[in-house]
Amino acid sequence: MVATPPPVSSPAGSVLSGLEAVRRWAADFYRDLHAHPELSHEEHATAAKVAERLAASGITTHTGIGGTGVVGLIRNGDGPVVLLRADMDALPVAEATGLDYASSATATDNAGSEVPVMHACGHDMHVACLLGATHLLASGTGHWTGTVVSVFQPAEETGDGAHGMVDDGLATLVPRADVALAQHVLPAPAGLVGTHAGPTLSAADSMRVILHGRGAHGSMPQASVDPVVLAAMIVVRLQTVVARETRPGEPVVLTVGRLEAGTKSNVIPDYAVIELNVRTYSEQTRAAVLEAIKRIVDAECEASGSPEPADYELFDRFPLTDNDAETTDRVTAAFTAFFGERARPLPMQTASEDFSDIPRALGVPYCYWGIGGTDPQRYQTAEESGRIAQDIPVNHSAAFAPVIEPTLDTGIQAMVVAALAWLAPSRAA
Ligand code: ZN
Ligand code: ZN
Repeated sequence: MVATPPPVSSPAGSVLSGLEAVRRWAADFYRDLHAHPELSHEEHATAAKVAERLAASGITTHTGIGGTGVVGLIRNGDGPVVLLRADMDALPVAEATGLDYASSATATDNAGSEVPVMHACGHDMHVACLLGATHLLASGTGHWTGTVVSVFQPAEETGDGAHGMVDDGLATLVPRADVALAQHVLPAPAGLVGTHAGPTLSAADSMRVILHGRGAHGSMPQASVDPVVLAAMIVVRLQTVVARETRPGEPVVLTVGRLEAGTKSNVIPDYAVIELNVRTYSEQTRAAVLEAIKRIVDAECEASGSPEPADYELFDRFPLTDNDAETTDRVTAAFTAFFGERARPLPMQTASEDFSDIPRALGVPYCYWGIGGTDPQRYQTAEESGRIAQDIPVNHSAAFAPVIEPTLDTGIQAMVVAALAWLAPSRAA
């Protein structure tokens, strides 16, 4: 599966002619990040390494945006402004890949507990790819005109890193972009790139509901408003939201992941807590589902004679990733021209991402695509034996780590090729 390289006279071919030299340091950079992961909002060493690398490539660099966010800016005359984004954070997972550059790092989480840390989502790969692409675009300014804004974002896993950069003035720091582009490594054969127009990643909302009852002795239920029974009714009734209130065929997930009440078998408690998670693929359905949940909870509280209304709190919210059709067509055409057979359609994903908070806040169309990270031979073996689900580690698993090549090359190429689909070819090129 070797791509037919574009003619070297094309801007992409010219800019990518330096890939071999970049590959050497980018692979080392990747291994170093992988061995030294940092939790969301704590990406201090990672951000410093990114800033140092950008400066070494002669790129104007801004640091400390929304916490640890870093921006590299290449102004290269008149022309379109392209924003490229990578996320930098890792997860509290104990690495079990057995790689010689595996992480043994630990950190203190928000709750004060010591936790293992691992790049289990491939954000280290995103950083290495974007650094490589940015360096190549900076070295190849003779072949294009316009502006490239490379954004290295903190805290994707907590869903608030993109917003943090926007709130800290990203829009005033960089010129107004014409397009925003981002990518994610996925459990698919390395070397492949995948695009999907329209809703691509789900919106995610977590909700905490506190149900108020009236506690009493377990032998005297007449004196109580039992929040355990109330919570149980709600959990059952919530199942009707997907089954009875959403269109068959439209993917919606509503999961109650936490249910807590009481301390002892013969004490009716004062309250119960429900935590649930919702995944949707349209803003309309998202609003309708959240509304239905409140309607059911309020009505069940009323039915139970709850002494006060339930308390609601939304948290861990991720926006819908809804790829702009025209933008995605342009990326897909550029990928097909460059990668040939390796450019594929990307199936809709059930995961969520906060990248789109940046283009949404800036009022910019965007495209977010996937790149494979699994050893192609391993993937094929698993596919032939019908064991993809069992044998191919997925993001967030302790065994997830992309093979460095061809993942790194593909991610660098994808970023450069997509950016050049907007940047104007230089007349001098
Ligand atoms: Zn993740
Ligand atoms: Zn991720």
